[in-house]
Amino acid sequence: MRIKHHLARALFFLGVVFAPAAALAAHPLADLESHIVSVAQWGGTPADPALARKQMITHITLHHQGEPFPQGMDPVAYLRNLQTWSRITKHWLDIPYHYIIDLDGRVYAGRNIGYAGDTNTEYDPMGHALIEVVGNFEEVQPNQQQLDAVVDLMAMLALKYKVPVDRIAGHKDYSAQTVCPGANLYRYLQNGYFRDQVALRLGQPTADGSIRK
Ligand SMILES: [Zn+2]
Repeated sequence: MRIKHHLARALFFLGVVFAPAAALAAHPLADLESHIVSVAQWGGTPADPALARKQMITHITLHHQGEPFPQGMDPVAYLRNLQTWSRITKHWLDIPYHYIIDLDGRVYAGRNIGYAGDTNTEYDPMGHALIEVVGNFEEVQPNQQQLDAVVDLMAMLALKYKVPVDRIAGHKDYSAQTVCPGANLYRYLQNGYFRDQVALRLGQPTADGSIRK
């Protein structure tokens, strides 16, 4: 543990010294977590731990918002509304997802990752780290900042929770009731791009030893 902490600290300082203004994608994995916008920072409130289903992370699962997210829409307002809707309308513990990625590839914390998520569909998200990307990828394409942020976040989670890359999948892999995360984002799961990019970030071999496009 102590060696790990020293390594994390060394990577953190390298990040600060050499890449102070770089995008999230350019930071070492150990530093990514410090760039996630916390619930307090976006003006949300924590969930009641007494009502939570506690979980250990075994899977990483990708979602989309499923609604248009136009340029200029405020992600903070979106998150605050999502939290209110989740609790008041859906009677859920919190936002159903653990992380939300905006149009600029910025990552926001949602539900505490120690608490199982929620879903409108038939699968049980217990053990799944749930990532939502804003937008409807049945209609639009993900941009490069979003793709980079998905890879970085998946890699950070895979490293932290020791999740094998073959447990990275999409919502519709577990549910016949949805097209989530949308065809244009799901493509990057289907062709192995996300799993290969995560493997490369972690220094693991890719599925066929090369990067797929
Ligand atoms: Zn979904």
